[in-house]
Amino acid sequence: MPTRKREPTEVNANHFAGLAGLINGSVDACADSDRCDGGNCVAVDLDTIQDRPVELLQRLLRFDTSNPPGNERECIDWIRELLEGIGCEVRILASEAERPNLIARLAGRGVCPPLLLQGHVDVVAARGQWRHEPFAGELHDGYVWGRGALDMKGGVAMMLAAFMRAKASRTPPPGDVILCLMADEEAGSDLGAEFLVREHPELFADVRYAIGEFGGFTMDVAGRRFYPIMVAEKQVCWSRAILRGPTGHGSMPIRGGAMGRLGRLLERLDSRRLPVHVTTVARTMIEKIAADVPPTLAMPLKGLLVPRITDRLLDVMGERGRVFDPLLHNTVSATIVGGGEKVNVIPDAITLTLDGRLLPGFAPEQLFAELRALVGVEMEFEVLRHDPVAGEPDLGLFDVLAGVLGELDPQAKAIPMLLPGITDGRFFSRLGIQTYGFLPMQLPAELPFMQLIHAENERLPADAVEFGTAAIGRLLERIG
Ligand SMILES: [Zn+2]
Repeated sequence: MPTRKREPTEVNANHFAGLAGLINGSVDACADSDRCDGGNCVAVDLDTIQDRPVELLQRLLRFDTSNPPGNERECIDWIRELLEGIGCEVRILASEAERPNLIARLAGRGVCPPLLLQGHVDVVAARGQWRHEPFAGELHDGYVWGRGALDMKGGVAMMLAAFMRAKASRTPPPGDVILCLMADEEAGSDLGAEFLVREHPELFADVRYAIGEFGGFTMDVAGRRFYPIMVAEKQVCWSRAILRGPTGHGSMPIRGGAMGRLGRLLERLDSRRLPVHVTTVARTMIEKIAADVPPTLAMPLKGLLVPRITDRLLDVMGERGRVFDPLLHNTVSATIVGGGEKVNVIPDAITLTLDGRLLPGFAPEQLFAELRALVGVEMEFEVLRHDPVAGEPDLGLFDVLAGVLGELDPQAKAIPMLLPGITDGRFFSRLGIQTYGFLPMQLPAELPFMQLIHAENERLPADAVEFGTAAIGRLLERIG
């Protein structure tokens, strides 16, 4: 381990007052007494913290990076200190001073292209009733609790620890490893990934593959354990539908006006689906699951891939089919209604804001055509946000990732996954970089993983942090 060079005075003020002493090795007393709660105190020597990724995660969770407003600077500065302390060169790039991004590069042997580890340090607000403080990073019953434990400070802790271990190792990784920790993912990434890709694409030159959220966690289907690795994501198509009609006095009702059209649109969205599309990734994902589960479940799963019976099967499967529904359709959720100003004036236009999600390879116009056909009324559309991503995924790294998971958990099977949501991977795809959602977590079957994301009582088993760090570490030994 290289010795730490920084003087205490260079360490950031306030929050890091205690850290200064720790970085320089004086660990005789808890230097973080304002946050220390005895058994959950992690104010210890940071020299070997990469060997304790759980503590690293606890530390990260204590920074309140709720976005908005984000305030990622303290968290990013802390990571910068940590990395500079072990001799890494770190760059901070910010579009706004309080919302910085961090990039560190570890030189490899040059036999592989650089590998990008990308993650975000911002989190969504911690609302609701929590059993343990959301920004205390406490460990209870084998779980690390806190906002961001799953999305995605747990993943950041794994990447950071694996990166630091690779730095400490005598053998450099096969290729360079770029660690990129970003701001603003939860609010659209304008100050994070979008900014970096737009303003500093040279930092990612020659990168072919990236590791990021969202995937690598266990999924239990009929008692069989799978690791879905995200290889493609749906695309955002946020838009506004404008419904028009004649205006008039409220005392003289008009039928078939803007309000009536709105009603019809909402009723159709509530009761029907858009057409079925079976993309290559969804097909591969479902076929691989079907191949490993009992025939009683394999049959309906395979049936989902036959468009004329897909929707009927989804209805029959109910809750169990819910996870597959958005993988087989473009979807739209109506979220904001606007229109009407006076109680006695019939409005001539109503706007309906729509959270549309496109399957890979689809364009906004195709979604709008599907909506017009579904509803059968005149409407205009305005695109508010659309971040197109590459069509077919590059699966060149999939077998390596599946191999790593197979070594660490021989009972389980890795499968490629289409993600209904979005990640920062969509911005890196503009540079031709294929992101894999690979934050490996072996989770207890009873943990309601998906329901805990962005919800109260977010938590992650401590063992899963160790597992993921080991998996990413193995990957860095193989390809970088
Ligand atoms: Zn996330």
